[in-house]
Parts: sequence; C-alpha cells; structure tokens
Amino acid sequence: MSHRISDSSCAECGSEVKSLPTTIEFRGQEIHLFHPALCVHCLENICERYSTLCANCGEAIPPYSQVGVLKGNGGENQFVHMTTSCLTVGSAFHGYWGKGKLHNFMEIEAC
Ligand SMILES: [Zn+2]
Ligand SMILES: [Zn+2]
Repeated sequence: MSHRISDSSCAECGSEVKSLPTTIEFRGQEIHLFHPALCVHCLENICERYSTLCANCGEAIPPYSQVGVLKGNGGENQFVHMTTSCLTVGSAFHGYWGKGKLHNFMEIEAC
C-alpha cells in the first residue's frame, strides 16, 4: 500500500509505534487499538490502570472501548461490555470508555 501512517509515535511516551493497530491481550480479551497510537507497553499500563469492571459478567472492560451504561441503584453509573450477552435489555445508554472517563455518552433511542 502506498499510504503510510506518518504520525505513529506513542501518545504516552513518544516512542515509535511500528504498526497499528496496537494489539495486546488483556485478561483474556484481545485489544486492537488504532487511536490513540500507543506502544504495547503503554497500552498494557493504561489497561491495568484504567480498566473498569463489567457489572454483568464481572470481567474487566479495557479502556478505549465502547461500553453500555447502566444506572446503579445509588444513581451511579455501571458499565457493561457492548456484547449481546452483557448488554441487557434494560440498558439505555452507551458511551466510550477512555482513560478512566466516559466519553461520548449518549442515550440510545428507546424503542
Ligand atoms: Zn509508549
Ligand atoms: Zn461483560
């Protein structure tokens, strides 16, 4: 391919990222990250520090992934995987789980 990604230095440490997506395995889940560009080492660190737990299956949800959002009993947000087994009928919101923060939080049109 003639197109080459020129801006491929790690967003955290600045070292060169040779190929995108950065792919790691984190707690049994494969993670393929195109954006931001991160080296394997930084992506592993961020997954360790910023992953959250799925309220349905109890497994880790790594950062930089789509999540379903449930309202907990105390009004706090709970997160679930965006999979059919974890995303239950009751969940009305979804968002993008970043570095320990929810981005692009939006309400799914109720049907
Ligand atoms: Zn790095
Ligand atoms: Zn889950």
